[in-house]
Amino acid sequence: MTVPRTIVSFHAHPDDEVLLTGGTLARLAAAGHRVVLVTATSGGAGLADPASREGGLAAVRAAELSRSARLLGCARVELLGYEDSGMDGTAGGPSAFCRTPLPDAAERLAAILEQEQADVLTVYDEHGGYGHPDHVAVHRVGVLAAQLAGTPRVLEATIDRDLLKRGVRAMGVLHLGRGIELPPMAGAYLPRGEITHRVDVRAFTGAKRAAMAAHVSQAGGESADSRTLGLLLRLPRPLFRALLGHEWFAERGAARTLRPASTLFPGAEGAA
Ligand SMILES: [Zn+2]
Repeated sequence: MTVPRTIVSFHAHPDDEVLLTGGTLARLAAAGHRVVLVTATSGGAGLADPASREGGLAAVRAAELSRSARLLGCARVELLGYEDSGMDGTAGGPSAFCRTPLPDAAERLAAILEQEQADVLTVYDEHGGYGHPDHVAVHRVGVLAAQLAGTPRVLEATIDRDLLKRGVRAMGVLHLGRGIELPPMAGAYLPRGEITHRVDVRAFTGAKRAAMAAHVSQAGGESADSRTLGLLLRLPRPLFRALLGHEWFAERGAARTLRPASTLFPGAEGAA
């Protein structure tokens, strides 16, 4: 029998919830767990298609975020309302997320963790994945918030770096991804040996794809992120399922293992 748990998934920008954790969140929600999404910024610095900018990009992205969250089965969505700091960390003015004092942001997240009695918090790895300053801030703020709230488990959402490097090479051979500027991978995400969970989300790639498509302002925009979303959405479904059918986590404080766990709650998650 499934024991319901509460998972809080903390992200930097609207759309980040899909790529690294969307399948896992959909799988947990489908198994009867309570999934809460907390997004730090409204993503206003993302360059996007001028049509969506007219009504205020932040408002558009907030609406897209709630649609994406609904498709993934999230029970609650909280936007902390910080400004997007931009890839070089200079955008967003005084309320930019990466320049907010760590304890201030951590206390706000900790209040949600306490209210929800969260069993698990997901953040990003310490590199902030590919290194966006707001993603690095998600790691730091999240780790402190979990300490403040006494949240027992913190999982860093990441990508298997070894697999990513192979994928990037294969894309080059197939001439896919032209025009996409990929950040350097050497120090990005985490090496395979540090990964503790490799979650099978192949049964949830439909929800993941739909949630990705909900972020239409990003899929049609000009930034590297939006081009990545656009490229992924153009993939044939079987290839999308193969590429995005697993998600990776490193649980803080957990022993390294040669065989990563396939679910976040072994024995309590229901079948994949
Ligand atoms: Zn982001």
